[in-house]
Amino acid sequence: MEILAPRFSGFCPGVKKAEDALLALRNGTDEPLYVLGELIHNHHFIEELERRRIHTVSRIEDIPEGAHVVIRTHGIPREVEERLRERFRVTDLTCFKVKALQKVILDHDRAGYAVLISGKRKHPEVQGLVSYARKVWVLETNEEIESFFREVKEDPSHPLHPPQPVLLVSQTTAPHSLFEALTTAARTHLPRHTLAVHNSICPITTHREEAALALQDQVDLTLVIGDPSSSNAAKLYERLKAHNPATWFITSVDDLPALHPHLRRATRIQLVSSSSTPPSQEAAIRTHLLTHYDTTPSSSD
Ligand code: SF4
Repeated sequence: MEILAPRFSGFCPGVKKAEDALLALRNGTDEPLYVLGELIHNHHFIEELERRRIHTVSRIEDIPEGAHVVIRTHGIPREVEERLRERFRVTDLTCFKVKALQKVILDHDRAGYAVLISGKRKHPEVQGLVSYARKVWVLETNEEIESFFREVKEDPSHPLHPPQPVLLVSQTTAPHSLFEALTTAARTHLPRHTLAVHNSICPITTHREEAALALQDQVDLTLVIGDPSSSNAAKLYERLKAHNPATWFITSVDDLPALHPHLRRATRIQLVSSSSTPPSQEAAIRTHLLTHYDTTPSSSD
């Protein structure tokens, strides 16, 4: 069996930068550190941070007064950040791409634009993004996009009347197809509005998907390594599975025994990790494959 790995597999630049900065903070102090919300969507990583006294908390009330708090890669709502800065020492590890998108939204809001975002309204990044605009909608599916524009057309008192400037952006890890559906619908249904189209989808996730897709025809099976709560891991898996049904989503080495009947017949497999999958998780899976199967480690573009 041969193991192939596509380019761009694993931690993206935003996550790598946040991990390096957090570990540098850890090494520079003995005090406990706090992260408001999960730094990245990966429970193995969060458990590892906990072992190093970097505590993940979901509420400001759970942070001791005056503590050192870290803002996660997805960013947080503006008003929450302001509250944090009033009471704690804060290190902002919001990914530079998310930070840039927050600024684009804020600048357009100040210039009088309404904002439409394609993505998941409960995703932490999106919850942060919406806080930078006063007139903002999040559209999750093609059906929602259709019904939103139908409503605009049929309701003369809709806040998008009279014609006004509108900014169109995407959650950084949302599908291209959803953003395309949004821009197409806006161009069709808002012919008298000024539209600013800002494609904010992170190219890393697309590059990884393309590289992994290119290997799908060369392998017997593909293992996508990620956490079920990660948007980019789910998107990667769905795309690859659509191309080759012999594709499985796994979270750790513990998932491999169930796949033994497939693994023992495979001569070539692809291992691909999401943006938020720690290298240690992929390494453990590689080691298991090398130990239990006749395996040749290899990499490929
Ligand atoms: S996927 Fe892109 S936007 Fe998201 S954290 Fe990584 S570099 Fe930043």
